[in-house]
Amino acid sequence: MAGKWAQTPSAVWNPSRRCLQMKASQFLISTLKEAPADAEVLSHQLMTRAGMIKKLGAGIYTYMPMGLRVIRKVEAIVREEMNRAGAIECVMPVIQPGELWTESGRFQTMGPELLRVRDRHERDFVVQPTSEEAVTDIARQDLRSYKQLPKNLYQIQTKFRDERRPRFGLMRGREFIMKDAYSFDRDEASAKLSYQKMAAAYRAIFDRFGLTYRAVAADSGAIGGDLSEEFQVIAATGEDAIVYSTGSDYAANMEKAEALAPAGARPAPGQPMTKTPTPGKSTCADVAELLALPLTRTVKSLVLATEELNDAGEVAKVQIWLLLLRGDHDMNEVKVGKVSGLDQGFRFASVPEIIDHFGTRPGYLGPIGLKKPVKIVADREVAAMADWVCGANEEDFHITGVNWGRDLPEPDLVADIRNVVAGDAAPDGRGQLAIERGIEIGHIFYLGTKYSRAMDATFLDDDGKPKPFEMGCYGIGITRLPAAAIEQNHDERGIIWPDAIAPFTVVICPVGMDRSEGVKAAAEGLYAELMQAGVDVILDDRGERPGAMFADWELIGVPHRVTIGDKGLKDGQLEYQHRRDTAATKVPAGEIAAFVKGRLAA
Ligand code: ATP
Ligand code: MG
Repeated sequence: MAGKWAQTPSAVWNPSRRCLQMKASQFLISTLKEAPADAEVLSHQLMTRAGMIKKLGAGIYTYMPMGLRVIRKVEAIVREEMNRAGAIECVMPVIQPGELWTESGRFQTMGPELLRVRDRHERDFVVQPTSEEAVTDIARQDLRSYKQLPKNLYQIQTKFRDERRPRFGLMRGREFIMKDAYSFDRDEASAKLSYQKMAAAYRAIFDRFGLTYRAVAADSGAIGGDLSEEFQVIAATGEDAIVYSTGSDYAANMEKAEALAPAGARPAPGQPMTKTPTPGKSTCADVAELLALPLTRTVKSLVLATEELNDAGEVAKVQIWLLLLRGDHDMNEVKVGKVSGLDQGFRFASVPEIIDHFGTRPGYLGPIGLKKPVKIVADREVAAMADWVCGANEEDFHITGVNWGRDLPEPDLVADIRNVVAGDAAPDGRGQLAIERGIEIGHIFYLGTKYSRAMDATFLDDDGKPKPFEMGCYGIGITRLPAAAIEQNHDERGIIWPDAIAPFTVVICPVGMDRSEGVKAAAEGLYAELMQAGVDVILDDRGERPGAMFADWELIGVPHRVTIGDKGLKDGQLEYQHRRDTAATKVPAGEIAAFVKGRLAA
């Protein structure tokens, strides 16, 4: 078929757009009717069916030509904005020496996500999951003076993480492409400026992708401060819960979003404390139902343990903790990990430990009548409750009408240890919290001197003294982004790409081109004209029947389509249809190129 179409080149390098236009017969289009059985989410199903990715192993995919075009466009946008923000591109090795990772401690401390391999000399190597070590090694060699700072080095490179549950195609792969950037500064103030520069660059990048997203405050772990944000593409299927205020621009992820203490003082006790039989009712929901009380009057007990080690590294002492949460609330592990005494690590208590301290099995636990001392941490909400219900530390019994101060001492600690829920007051005092789902496609983080100190990476400051670099790190999931874009933009027929990252922006679909010289000439003419204008266009010269041809392009998700047929041409008309349009628009043949270009600019 392609031979007949030899007047115009089938693949043309267009220097002005730095892209390759294409005739479909020369390209690899491998659409599928059925999605693979293991594809749980739509983006995975659609990327596979559209021939964009092909699975080679668990969490390991080939980027097929159609998918690679999207990835390259994502990379190009990221590269342009990173360069504009003053970052400098380099590429660090995928396989990195283990010694470097021993210096930072991550060779030992990082779990099985870090893939460790040995070479023929039995030397340890790792496959990079990120590159803090490698980039800090560059800095300590090549950035010697404060005069060379600040610097921001970035790469767009393959990563490997041996994820516990690789799934959802490119969304959570084991091998994937990340843009990772690392800033080096002289002091904290300057590092924070570098961070803000990246925050602005990320907004510019995500604006260009044409997706709905939110920048949310994230937990910055032990380093402290508020200098960590995640960039979340909003999608109902997202793995992350993101929290925002309906009354302000407050937004945070679930770990970071603060639940305030309830307004107003704790009500005075109104009921006597009463032991109540609750046979077989071991959950708060069951107890509330049995006693005809709202779930919000119940309190649930979670038992944790912390261990003190002796010099030999053996467990010398175990401390048992009782965490109290309102029956309808969920514990947040990150928040619990910040409670004084639990911040060095904790585990759930074992059943024997629980029986030893409470005298009964989980299901009927509470803070009253303990057998041995237990540290009690009440969630802010629980600390403000009166007349509540908890387990009686006796199988098949609960206690109602419990009150702090009267029936038991005030808790040892009061802390925010729960997930916020929709309707909670916003922590900034403006509006209420709402929750939606998101897909994390970027993360920026102020690191401080964590890596530079561990790896002895210093520069000479203007006082002639060596100082450790202040660092920041900034990631974007290049290959996760197309999957996130699809979760947000699809319909029952397939993908709907935003123009900026579509594999092709325009597809020309000639109907009956093998029968009609007129159709062929019009298609060739438009193809040449759009190419000339730098439009990323593909001409479907495969000779498919119209139904199959349209179905392919709707599945692949090319946003703009021009259909050329004999019938329309007789009246001098072609048809234009955006992927989101429900019907085609007739456009005079002579105006079609301008019309399409107008739609692209829109
Ligand atoms: P997640 O919580 O999703 O595991 P992360 O916190 O481990 O992400 P970072 O280490 O901050 O991620 O990596 C930077 C970016 O790389 C993430 O924002 C995400 O877009 C992307 N990314 C991380 N893990 C994967 C993966 N397994 N597959 C594809 N992209 C990933
Ligand atoms: Mg991860």
